[in-house]
Amino acid sequence: MEVTLLDATENPEEAICTAARNDYMNDWVGEKSFEEIMETIDGDTTEEKRYTLISHLLSHGHFGPFEHPKAIFAVKGISRSCMAQITRHRHVSFDVQSMRYVSFDDIDPDDVGRGEMIVIPPSITDPDWIGRNQQVGAVDEETVEKREEVFESSVRESVEAYQELLDLGVPPEDARFVLPIGTKVNMVMSMNPRMLMHVADMRAAADAQWEIREMTETVLDIAEEWCPLTFKYYNEHMKNRKNRLAP
Ligand SMILES: Cc1cc2nc3c(=O)[nH]c(=O)nc-3n(C[C@H](O)[C@H](O)[C@H](O)COP(=O)(O)OP(=O)(O)OC[C@H]3O[C@@H](n4cnc5c(N)ncnc54)[C@H](O)[C@@H]3O)c2cc1C
Repeated sequence: MEVTLLDATENPEEAICTAARNDYMNDWVGEKSFEEIMETIDGDTTEEKRYTLISHLLSHGHFGPFEHPKAIFAVKGISRSCMAQITRHRHVSFDVQSMRYVSFDDIDPDDVGRGEMIVIPPSITDPDWIGRNQQVGAVDEETVEKREEVFESSVRESVEAYQELLDLGVPPEDARFVLPIGTKVNMVMSMNPRMLMHVADMRAAADAQWEIREMTETVLDIAEEWCPLTFKYYNEHMKNRKNRLAP
């Protein structure tokens, strides 16, 4: 899987602070400089003032201003299972690679067991991996070899059947019905920092499924660079809270 930032609002925290200050100023923010807008906020530097205001907003549950900036992420090679989970979030916008218009007719079925076209879960190859609701603990090498064999033969058979159906003239939108839920997909998604915190609350949590957790952790790392003070506060004071609520 790969995640990259395609585009994002410049100076997102200036937008957040300006929107929040609008709520409590007699003057109109539209005709003030950012320094004037932040004049009465505690702090010796603009950076300190921003952090004062942002941490105040987050600690008091004033989340509206965090809806203004937006970040667009490109995600490569997640499973359709992971895609189904993330697309449940209704305030994230998505574009998902189509299996009606993209046909995987050039994939060599021999490569499928090596991660081409299908995501291989860690429990297939890692003897020490313990997943949620797993019936057994760590397993021996022989069991892992058997798991790999079963997984590989199953996905290879699916991909071969899919390609044969394409060769027989079945349209990709119907041939795809035989492909596994682990089939890889590329996606573009965009969201605001408020939603990003909510997605992280639910999907970076220890009980979240490993693939969506990995994707969300990468998105969070990018968010920390894009919107640093907000996600510094989030990581230090909000992440891993008990009784997480939609911010
Ligand atoms: C560990 C885990 C296991 C899960 N297991 C399952 C499962 O087995 N089956 C399943 O179907 N789903 C499952 N889900 C998905 C989960 O139930 C949510 O549907 C999904 O995470 C979307 O999150 P959300 O409900 O916060 O909504 P979002 O779409 O992310 O919306 C954000 C917030 O906006 C508000 N909101 C949005 N829409 C409405 C609305 N219509 N009415 C009222 N408030 C609204 C809510 O406060 C919501 O929290 C699971 C999620 C996790 C993290």
